[in-house]
Amino acid sequence: MAVCVAGQDGQFSGGKLKGILEDLGKRYRVSDGRRFRLNQFAPDDTGPFGRDDEEAAGSMLGACVEQMAELQDKLYAQDRWALLLIFQAMDAAGKDSTIKQVMSGINPQGCQVFSFKAPSEGELDHDYLWRVMCCLPERGRIGIFNRSYYEETLVVQVHPEILERQHLPPELVTRNIWKERYEDIGAYERYLSRNGIRILKFFLNVSKGEQKRRFSQRLDQPSKNWKFSAADLRERERWEEYMAAYESTIRHTASPHAPWFVVPADNKWFTRLVVASVVVETMKSMDLRYPRLTPAQRDELERARGELARAGKSGAKRKR
Ligand code: ATP
Ligand code: MG
Repeated sequence: MAVCVAGQDGQFSGGKLKGILEDLGKRYRVSDGRRFRLNQFAPDDTGPFGRDDEEAAGSMLGACVEQMAELQDKLYAQDRWALLLIFQAMDAAGKDSTIKQVMSGINPQGCQVFSFKAPSEGELDHDYLWRVMCCLPERGRIGIFNRSYYEETLVVQVHPEILERQHLPPELVTRNIWKERYEDIGAYERYLSRNGIRILKFFLNVSKGEQKRRFSQRLDQPSKNWKFSAADLRERERWEEYMAAYESTIRHTASPHAPWFVVPADNKWFTRLVVASVVVETMKSMDLRYPRLTPAQRDELERARGELARAGKSGAKRKR
């Protein structure tokens, strides 16, 4: 049962805030997938929040967004780590709006977003990780993948006919192909993590009923009409197969260095808070700090200070 997290005045204490945010990260984290079952995670879960807590959750999100901006500044200045956020979900689960809200305080210079659509003919002439390589975040940056190489074990597993278009040598397309892809993705993520890229993978877990409600909104509201795609209805018909592919993918690719977060997505306010808290807690654990000056650099700053002061005096003389 949910408990009211805010006080009577709708506010929450700093200590309580910290505890709740830490707990949200742990609650939905899967870093060892061996026993993972998707049905252990309810799409309409709101954790410790009750229905009346939406406003309090909104203020918590605001606090997270502010903290994220401070941490991002240090990430950028330190220029050592990169953070890669991967978003996967069924249509209308809220990937776009979550990215928009959670990243709203971030300095655009330190953030790179890439959306991966069905691969082009040119991309299909390469291995499936090729197009991803150039989109990885540089050191000091936050990279966001709106869909990713995980489509290779999701949509492609649900529609194995897509494999035909990949022009793979036939002898390499065996019944082991998904197991091999899980292994290769695992090895790739280990490689990235060993090179200073922290990876967080979010599955926005929306229910079939809520997806129907959101599709209906796209049909009914003129401002949302453009989002509707009849192709999304075709994919919806394969819901069970998609859920099996997600379960299998998460089970085989969750790891301590590249954990999955199975985020309840029926309530958008809760989805955003969970994602924001996971990002903030992860960044806090990275020991981000502004670079310390060496004695030589400090001397240089002092010299520059003197130079600037002298230039100021001569400028003032000229004015007179
Ligand atoms: P939205 O619908 O919110 O605009 P979206 O991420 O669903 O965002 P779309 O252009 O509708 O964007 O869909 C992209 C499509 O590309 C998805 O159906 C996805 O499964 C497909 N796709 C992405 N990567 C691959 C891949 N490697 N192979 C095949 N299909 C892919
Ligand atoms: Mg779509």
